[in-house]
Amino acid sequence: MTIDKITQAQVSGETSLSAVATQSTSLSVLIVEDSPTQAKLLNISLRRLGVDVEWLGTLSDALTRLKQPGIDVVLLDLSLPDSTGLATFHRIHNLNVSIPIVVLTGLDDQRVALEAMQSGAQDYLVKGRASDDSIVRCLRYAIERNRIELALRESERRTRQIIENSFDAFMAINGNGIVTDWNLKAEKMFGFTRNEALGKHVTELVSPSIPMERKLDSLAQIISQESSDMLNTRRETLALRKDGSEFPVEYGFFRVKSKDGYIYCSFLSDITERQEIERKRKQINQELERMVQERTAELQRSNEELHQFAKVASHDLQEPLRSIEGFAQLLAKRYRGQLDKDADEFIDFILEGTARMEQLIQAVLVHSSIGEEAETLENPMTDVNSVIKEVLANLRQSIQERGATFQVGPMPTVPVTRSQLIQLFQNLISNAIKYTGANATPSVSISAELNVNEWMFSIQDNGIGIDSKYADKIFDMFARLHGRTKYSGTGMGLAICKKIVTAHGGRIWMESEVGHGSIFFFTLPAKTPSKE
Ligand code: ADP
Repeated sequence: MTIDKITQAQVSGETSLSAVATQSTSLSVLIVEDSPTQAKLLNISLRRLGVDVEWLGTLSDALTRLKQPGIDVVLLDLSLPDSTGLATFHRIHNLNVSIPIVVLTGLDDQRVALEAMQSGAQDYLVKGRASDDSIVRCLRYAIERNRIELALRESERRTRQIIENSFDAFMAINGNGIVTDWNLKAEKMFGFTRNEALGKHVTELVSPSIPMERKLDSLAQIISQESSDMLNTRRETLALRKDGSEFPVEYGFFRVKSKDGYIYCSFLSDITERQEIERKRKQINQELERMVQERTAELQRSNEELHQFAKVASHDLQEPLRSIEGFAQLLAKRYRGQLDKDADEFIDFILEGTARMEQLIQAVLVHSSIGEEAETLENPMTDVNSVIKEVLANLRQSIQERGATFQVGPMPTVPVTRSQLIQLFQNLISNAIKYTGANATPSVSISAELNVNEWMFSIQDNGIGIDSKYADKIFDMFARLHGRTKYSGTGMGLAICKKIVTAHGGRIWMESEVGHGSIFFFTLPAKTPSKE
């Protein structure tokens, strides 16, 4: 029962203790003391120093009171009518109300008081020995110590909770490699309970297939680490479960300073699934690689076959063609004018047809040989100026006939064989002349411009133009937009140009408007690509 309760305002000399006080400067002490005289004396002393005091004479009253809030610290006499000795302390302590207990003891009880401290009492005071000031200081320190301990315990609890809830297994070892901590996930992962794992040497948790020397070497590296930041150094090893099975883990140790030196902590993740995915991915990649290689080889084979076919077919076609041509010429020479008018015309048709067939076969042969040359020959640098000069010389006749004029800008040198460049420019320039209306005079501009690592050439004419819907089609083999009677040709010229350009990694395209001329563009590399 409370016999006195005093609240006093600030008492001088107490400010030095405020640093260790709880948030409020006033302190509520519960004195549990069976001697009313002793309690009264304490009451008076403490009240003078601004402390709220409640007094109870029995343990059972104290236990009931402590279930209610409002007490900062308990000043506990161990010898009470309903309990004596250490049991008194334990019964209050076991209430688990987080209130610090300072044991109040007679001289004879000092040994028991010390024992109480070992069990969690904050301090002890010997009756009649301590000054009033020192009692208050002792009580305030007890509260502060208790607060720090509680905070520490709370932080430990939180840390533990984090560790226990981690998705990874957690393990700590000391400097001798002995396991000192083990979380729930580690229990599940390894099959060892915490109690089974604690005290084990870390090497016992690693597969026996790894030589002990290597295990000890890794351990030595972990322990000799200068820095505490080892989380970045992730390693992999083969771990051993309690049942003897093995599994791959990824781990990284970081060290933490403790009162007994460093401890080395690690989060370990089971990477069985990851390794399985990696293995599958590797397998798929290998399979894809194999398929690509197979497909490439197949394509190369079929390209080669096609090429061979074109070559053989053209050669074989040439022979009967020559014989037809030869006999038709013979027929013309011997019988022209001797048969009727129709017969003469038929002979001319045969000669025209064979000449055209000859042209087509030649064009197919040229087309099929292009890729081969571009890949196999180390291309020399060719001066495009001289190429254009040669082309214009080759086309001299049609240029003169049509009165064509040319504006040719400065031309570079490019890594393409001369014969292919002549073919490319000749096809485009002759088209520019050919596809200008019969009544117009062809005017052709040729220019080149450097874009980073490629040259872009353009050949512009003032001709009949092309409907943009044929922009891609005209580069196909045998594609022609006009009848032979109007414009002669094989339909192979642009297909050959495209093959030459693409074989050198370039592009070819055109821009045009019907009746307003066309511009053909193409790109070629500025330098020979470096060989690996
Ligand atoms: P061809 O032997 O018929 O000239 P090409 O492959 O060189 O074959 O050209 C394909 C078709 O593209 C031609 O038949 C023609 O209709 C069209 N063409 C090509 N160049 C031009 C151009 N400069 N102006 C208009 N049409 C063109």
